[in-house]
Order: sequence, then C-alpha cells, then structure tokens
Amino acid sequence: MKQFFFERECVHRDKGADGDMYNGMFFVQALQRLQSNDAVRFAGKVSPFYWADAPRVLVWLCRECAAELRLSDTPRAVLQAERVA
Ligand SMILES: [Zn+2]
Repeated sequence: MKQFFFERECVHRDKGADGDMYNGMFFVQALQRLQSNDAVRFAGKVSPFYWADAPRVLVWLCRECAAELRLSDTPRAVLQAERVA
C-alpha cells in the first residue's frame, strides 16, 4: 500500500530559497512552542493543513523559516528525500 503524503511549503520557495523537507509532526510541535502571536504570523507563511494530518504532511521550509522555528536544532525533523520513498 502506498502511503500518501501531503506537501506544504513556505512562501519563500517560489523565490528560489534554499531549504529542506521537514516532518509535519515536528513542524506542528515547533509551532506550538512559539508565542501565539509568533505562531499566527508564522502560520501565514506556510499553506495551512489540519494538525490531525501532520503525520502525513511534509513541510518544505527555507533555512530562515527553519531557524525561526529552531527546526535546524532538531536533526530528526529533517526528512531526506530517499527516506521518504
Ligand atoms: Zn521561508
């Protein structure tokens, strides 16, 4: 059975920014660690998804957004393309 993944990305991908794919669960956890106003501001940069879908969501974030969420401090959050397949 093929596992289905949803893909989301931050608004900077269109501008050719450098970034990585992140596990949706880590993204949601990182978002929950932010102050609520920061979380709202950040959520505006990434297309929304239902948090219940987080285990099946891959979020592409540029280095700047990942740093803001401190995801770069969490190596396990990064998904390498070959590990997704
Ligand atoms: Zn970004």
